[in-house]
Amino acid sequence: MRNEIDLILKPEFTQQIQNGYPLLMKEYFQDWNKLKEEGSLLHLYDNKKRFIAKGYYGLQNKGHGWILSQNEDETIDSEFFVRKIKEAIAYRKDFFADTQTTAFRVFNGEGDGIGGLSIDYFEGYYLFTWYSIGIYTFKESILEAFKQSVDFKGIYQKKRFNTKGMYLDDKSDFVSGQEAPQPLHVKENGANFAIYLDDGAMVGVFLDQREVRKAIRDKYAKGKTVLNTFSYTGAFSVFAALGGAKSTTSVDLAKRSLPKTQEQFCINNIDLKNQNIIVEDVFLYFKYAVRKKLLFDMVVVDPPSFARSKKHTFSANRDYVKLLKEVIQITNKDGIIVASTNAANFSMMTFGRFIDKAFKDLKTKYKVLKRYSLPKDFRVAEKFQEGNYLKVVFIKKL
Ligand code: SAH
Repeated sequence: MRNEIDLILKPEFTQQIQNGYPLLMKEYFQDWNKLKEEGSLLHLYDNKKRFIAKGYYGLQNKGHGWILSQNEDETIDSEFFVRKIKEAIAYRKDFFADTQTTAFRVFNGEGDGIGGLSIDYFEGYYLFTWYSIGIYTFKESILEAFKQSVDFKGIYQKKRFNTKGMYLDDKSDFVSGQEAPQPLHVKENGANFAIYLDDGAMVGVFLDQREVRKAIRDKYAKGKTVLNTFSYTGAFSVFAALGGAKSTTSVDLAKRSLPKTQEQFCINNIDLKNQNIIVEDVFLYFKYAVRKKLLFDMVVVDPPSFARSKKHTFSANRDYVKLLKEVIQITNKDGIIVASTNAANFSMMTFGRFIDKAFKDLKTKYKVLKRYSLPKDFRVAEKFQEGNYLKVVFIKKL
């Protein structure tokens, strides 16, 4: 039996939960020491014992649980999950109808009413990502609900929580149905990606950058020399090459980025002749580029929000200005910088200030051409705008 706990919200936090804010923190409760087992259902009341909302206890770096319903009579069971999943699928019906894009998000956590869970679609296969032990305790009924509501070829999963010896039983990420080919070929706006559903934490592409890749291909890349830093599998480089870039240079520290990037070029029939792939620390590459007086017409910079390499720790919040200054110095006049971050701990406005500071420090003028945040399939809860973590700015160096 699932544990159920009644909790009293402190008066100063009651209103925000009543208004629909979905994230829970221990500090919101008078009696938070009652929280023991992750996955416990929480019934939240105000200090006059009036019902406010219900949710679950699950530890993520963002907080300590999520609201599931503001309706006292709603039970959190398979039927509840069926409703949420069907709604989420209906919201993406244009994506399902588009034969040129066969990889997108079908369920985006609190944006679709269940914080801590995302589901991505890859050409008939579905990838579930569980962000806490708490949400993982609902796995059986969520999967049952999913199987009732959706036609699928196969189901995979990733656990994005500290397993601490728990749930280590599953050696593979395969869950149910048919196993996917490795790689699985999917399409994005007509281009191809090779996806590995069962090969570590990441599958080969970050779906949230779809619109940025399209803009690079359709509007910006033609005839340009393009540098793609923190390139991973080279997705931005592939779109730049497809858009007619004169050359691309992809730089990533991870050794496997070399064969993975070659693979993405190959399945898009792009000649590797003008595509350089360099396995190196980006910060060393910048030094090399300055020494060799290399200048690019377009530089994409999309670092992880936090990373540690042998020589550097990088934190987007602390180091983005410095990073941009390196980038500005190796960008041609009238060149384009695509500055991107998925750091959730600062806003688009703060990001704009980082960009401004970097250019001002170098006494260089610039113009912001376009801003992107999450695409439609990465649905954001109206009352939780911080869920819109993606910030991408196209900047022209004047
Ligand atoms: N821009 C990519 C995703 C980047 S993921 C895309 O859109 O597909 C972050 C990548 O940064 C990882 O592949 C990681 O290996 C790389 N990375 C982290 N620190 C690095 C460093 N100091 N130098 C080069 N690459 C780094």
